[in-house]
Amino acid sequence: MEENIQCSDTGDFEAVPREKVIQFKPPLYRQRYQFVKDLVDQHEPKKVADLGCGDTSLIRQLKVYPCIELLVGVDIDEDKLRWRGDKLAPFLGDFLKPRDLDLTITLYHGSAVERDSRLLGFDLITCIELIEHLDSGDLARFPEVVFGYLSPAMIVISTPNSEFNPLFPIVTLRDSDHKFEWNRMQFQTWSLYMANRYNYSVEFTGVGEPPAGAENVGYCTQIGIFQKNGGKATPLCGSEQLDQHVYKAVSILCEAAVRPTGTFIRMVFTASYPSLQQERFLRLVLVNEVSRQVESLRVRYLRKLKEREDGELGTKPKDAGCSQAHIPCFGPVFSEVEKARIKTSPKPFCIGDKFFVPLQRLLAYPKLSRLCADEEMMRSVIADAVGLSSDGSAVMVDLHDYFDYLFDF
Ligand code: SAM
Repeated sequence: MEENIQCSDTGDFEAVPREKVIQFKPPLYRQRYQFVKDLVDQHEPKKVADLGCGDTSLIRQLKVYPCIELLVGVDIDEDKLRWRGDKLAPFLGDFLKPRDLDLTITLYHGSAVERDSRLLGFDLITCIELIEHLDSGDLARFPEVVFGYLSPAMIVISTPNSEFNPLFPIVTLRDSDHKFEWNRMQFQTWSLYMANRYNYSVEFTGVGEPPAGAENVGYCTQIGIFQKNGGKATPLCGSEQLDQHVYKAVSILCEAAVRPTGTFIRMVFTASYPSLQQERFLRLVLVNEVSRQVESLRVRYLRKLKEREDGELGTKPKDAGCSQAHIPCFGPVFSEVEKARIKTSPKPFCIGDKFFVPLQRLLAYPKLSRLCADEEMMRSVIADAVGLSSDGSAVMVDLHDYFDYLFDF
């Protein structure tokens, strides 16, 4: 265990003797994020919104999940959103290895108790350590907005369990901004009432195990997982309903990627990630993978030619420092089915000093078949970037390369 008192949101607790501080390992906030990440793994939501997202830490962790295509963060504190919001923009690595599916991330400044139609139709809405910050008026509005109006397929609500508090030194409320902290009975009564009213089912769990001997107090953070009966978010309908835009898109100072380092521009925070759904990134990845595969087949072809020549002449391969015998093979590992598919596909061949790899052969490799549905698609995407045979059925390259001497060909 580690956390919680000294790591509170405001950090306003007085220093307490070290031996009295309950520490959670991993820290409690990480356990909460991990809990959400496990749910995402399990349910693979496409659209996820984090209400009361604070400094966007959870959003940063969720953006790597391949199933998520839309991530929205909402917070009432614009400065918190701005603080690290720029870290949500794609990095160089995101361009070098684009995602399979599109991902858009948007940050909104607004309150979780206001209706905004841009959050309709979501698969998962998380409210991590949010409700205890709402005053009684907002707490009364919250269920009507989140359960009733937004009505996502799943809602996760976490909040402190006050039964755990006596284990902390000098604690009445864990944070100076908390308006209340509920015991398990209070949270479960509220949750069951809302679930019943808005047609959800709810399960209770938590993170932050109590220490040995104090098991009866329950988890430090209590969590309700609400699932809409019928499993689906309320479908979007009616254009007037979709025009309800209350939240303000957050503008953030971002380091400009295309200008000299240190140049900043203010932009409304919506980040679109490169993905294989976008033609230019698919093309980039496909051309790169085709070229890599063709090169690997060309080198293997030359190696076989050399072995045959050596066999016929009765000469032994030279033991040069960088001969092919010393090149480690770290190729992909294929399953038996994949191996059979590659073996039965059309073989690479040579005419004069040109080396050809049939597109059907390339499509037999799992990495390429994942990127390309069929030969026609492959041809149209790579045609401008690589040489093709006259009938367009094979990639064509020079059999010999300037650097072949390195491999002793
Ligand atoms: N969910 C984040 C996390 O777990 O790291 C931050 C939790 S922090 C304890 C609570 C957050 O709720 C703060 O960032 C606060 O600004 C935000 N908040 C409070 N009232 C809100 C409201 N009515 N609507 C949206 N956000 C709110």
